[in-house]
Amino acid sequence: MFGRSRLDTKTPDQLLRMRRAGLVVGQTLQLMAQTVRPGMTTRQLDELAEEHIRGCGATPSFLGYHGFTGSLCTSVNEEVVHGIPGGRVLEQGDLISIDCGAIVDGWHGDAALSLVVGGRDAARPEDLELIDATEDSMWAGIAALAVGESLYAVGAAVEDSLVEAGERSGREYGIVEDYVGHGIGTEMHQDPQVPNYRVRDRGPTVRVGTTVAIEPMVTLGSAETHLLEDEWTVITADGSRAAHWENTVAVTEHGLWVLTALDGGEERLSALGASYGPLS
Ligand code: MG
Ligand code: MG
Repeated sequence: MFGRSRLDTKTPDQLLRMRRAGLVVGQTLQLMAQTVRPGMTTRQLDELAEEHIRGCGATPSFLGYHGFTGSLCTSVNEEVVHGIPGGRVLEQGDLISIDCGAIVDGWHGDAALSLVVGGRDAARPEDLELIDATEDSMWAGIAALAVGESLYAVGAAVEDSLVEAGERSGREYGIVEDYVGHGIGTEMHQDPQVPNYRVRDRGPTVRVGTTVAIEPMVTLGSAETHLLEDEWTVITADGSRAAHWENTVAVTEHGLWVLTALDGGEERLSALGASYGPLS
């Protein structure tokens, strides 16, 4: 399924361009997290996101992508990914995953976060555990990126992180396999795919200049998904809630640079003992 495609690499100058796109995405998601509240529709969030992206001189990459009608994907509760913004009114306690992509000078950034509408106090405890476990697994996957190592170390680290988190909370998380991370650069989705679970193949070797989007999708139940009739929205087969976190990451000669994180990933990478290696 994944093949042994060679990872293309970006030059330092190209990575600096991708950082500009990444910052637009990171800032847009921060704005969404600060803005979302009960009573809003997902379309209102989307309109605000598009306005912000364009105000930064960037272009929303999702809008028009194979006919997609939003600048965000908004996936609520049992929706895993690719939810279409529309008239749905968000309620206190809803778990929403917000995915955003932007293009600056032809270079892409892609990131997502999950949160509970109304704040953590409004959340079901299991939803907070799911959100945190998914975010932690994304960072574990990012920290597993290392020059000369297999790209598929990412998926092994994501899986191990989720198994450990599940053991701590007495549950077994579902790791979605139908959708995976990807290379990124002058297109949003480039080869190779980046699975969020352990695979037998060695896969491509990570090199300086590698850029990938790492994006675990995790459920409180089954990992099986269904596609709704709108041909976009992916839901869990068993109706359990799902979370989704994503960042676009670059491997530089100095270490890792999380292009869609406002701090470049410094805080979380340092906590994990991974090398933080921004360019300037
Ligand atoms: Mg995305
Ligand atoms: Mg992506």
